[in-house]
Amino acid sequence: MCHEPTYARPVPRDAFCFLREMTMSAVAATASVSCGSEARGESFRALLVAQREDCVRQRQLTVAEDTASPGDPVVAGRAADLLRTIEEIDAALERIEAGTYGRCVRCGGSIPDERLEFRPHAAGCVACARSGR
Ligand SMILES: [Zn+2]
Repeated sequence: MCHEPTYARPVPRDAFCFLREMTMSAVAATASVSCGSEARGESFRALLVAQREDCVRQRQLTVAEDTASPGDPVVAGRAADLLRTIEEIDAALERIEAGTYGRCVRCGGSIPDERLEFRPHAAGCVACARSGR
């Protein structure tokens, strides 16, 4: 997978841009508009979609394995983990649509790009993830 360093240029988030985002979430399915944090989410969307496809494929294999040898707790655990990851990816894709991607769902702080690159479906910042459990 190739990462383009498109996040290098900071985009000011002005009021006009925010308004456009509000309108955008209402007409989410239309053509993509590059603007502020929306562009940030867009650069991760392809990554999330690819990761989701990969998880779905792995889960199908795991479920097939579970059918072949039912009752294996390792296989069942892996299937559950994959399902949870798929759900987290779906939630991240929803945040891209809503224009809140890259912000911590708990404290509202910005999640660093390094963390999103490592874990694009991360819902919280490092501090919240640590104190979470
Ligand atoms: Zn946080």
